Amino acid sequence: MASNLISHNSDLTLDVYFTETVHQGSELKEIFRGSETFAVSRDVLVKSSPVFSTMLHSDGFFAEKKMRQVRVEAESITSMKIWLQILHCQTPDYDVNLTEVWNLIAVCDKFNLVIDLLYKWFEIWYSKQPIEQWLIGTRYTGETHHFNEDARCLLYPTWRLDHPKGFLRVSRHVVYNSCYYVKEMSPVRRRADLHLPSRIIQQMNAARGRLKTIIFHALYRPLEELLLENQNCCDKTGSDYQRALLETKAWPIERYGTANSIATLLRRLRDFYYPTPITKCVTCPKDFQRVVKDLIMHTTFYFDGMCIDCMNQSKAKTQNEDTDYWLHRYLRQDEIVRGCRVESHRQPTWYFSFMGRREDMDKFRHKERD
Ligand SMILES: [Zn+2]
Ligand SMILES: [Zn+2]
Repeated sequence: MASNLISHNSDLTLDVYFTETVHQGSELKEIFRGSETFAVSRDVLVKSSPVFSTMLHSDGFFAEKKMRQVRVEAESITSMKIWLQILHCQTPDYDVNLTEVWNLIAVCDKFNLVIDLLYKWFEIWYSKQPIEQWLIGTRYTGETHHFNEDARCLLYPTWRLDHPKGFLRVSRHVVYNSCYYVKEMSPVRRRADLHLPSRIIQQMNAARGRLKTIIFHALYRPLEELLLENQNCCDKTGSDYQRALLETKAWPIERYGTANSIATLLRRLRDFYYPTPITKCVTCPKDFQRVVKDLIMHTTFYFDGMCIDCMNQSKAKTQNEDTDYWLHRYLRQDEIVRGCRVESHRQPTWYFSFMGRREDMDKFRHKERD
């Protein structure tokens, strides 16, 4: 079978094969799944990868250095082919699914390639995907779903391949649509090393927690005001208001807020119905429907997602609190977010994208307030 022509000045045939790990009884076995050959330039491979360099360079110790054909294992044929196209300045393929994007990252790590070379490819690939459709289609009910269309499988690639717009959009979606805990998903089971730093997941969970707190306070405040009046009419209004909230199945938030996503809670609150009661009292006649409507608006637009640039700026650079000048510069940014590549995002994104020590942030903000 003829090789895939990658280089016109080919002096090496790369025989790429891939295997799959499968259960055989109680054992895990590597099963050969296929191979393909590529006509490439030895020089290009040597210059692009320390792994190939050791394998192929004429000073190397390995037998491959004299061979005209070498055999390597990759995550998949497609991902290896795209890498070879990129390295040889050929137009790469884009018509691949999300799993291949993960495979591309795995190949990069395996051969120690420069990940930056993949950024442009990923930007174009991302622009060709029906991302909004995937986001709408992703429901986190734990039922079977397609890895290649699961928004959570986009978290890691958008972060690792430096796509601030994608990471902001996808992380926002995952925070609003996750039940229980925010977690990421991987379509490549055997590559457990490919995942987000745990700090990012922690911060996304903190953002989800914050949204629940906002909902609680906004819904509880009118009730508290009525209770403090200690009047019969106000007690009655308070009970009616709570009953109307109970009917939405979004309240009490402690009961419904764990197993349901923020998006579900907000959707349920849209059904809230309790017209302003008519009494002579000054406290009772509140526009409760407006309270709930405003809360839905405020919560829906509160969190824009995680910002890669804010995250990068706030990573601890030294272990010394006193010399962390960068940190203070970052902490001062607050409302005016400068230099982020995403068009604009609001303060909560900046706050939850903080990757440094949380105590530093709180201490500093406290001091600024005093
Ligand atoms: Zn009253
Ligand atoms: Zn930012």
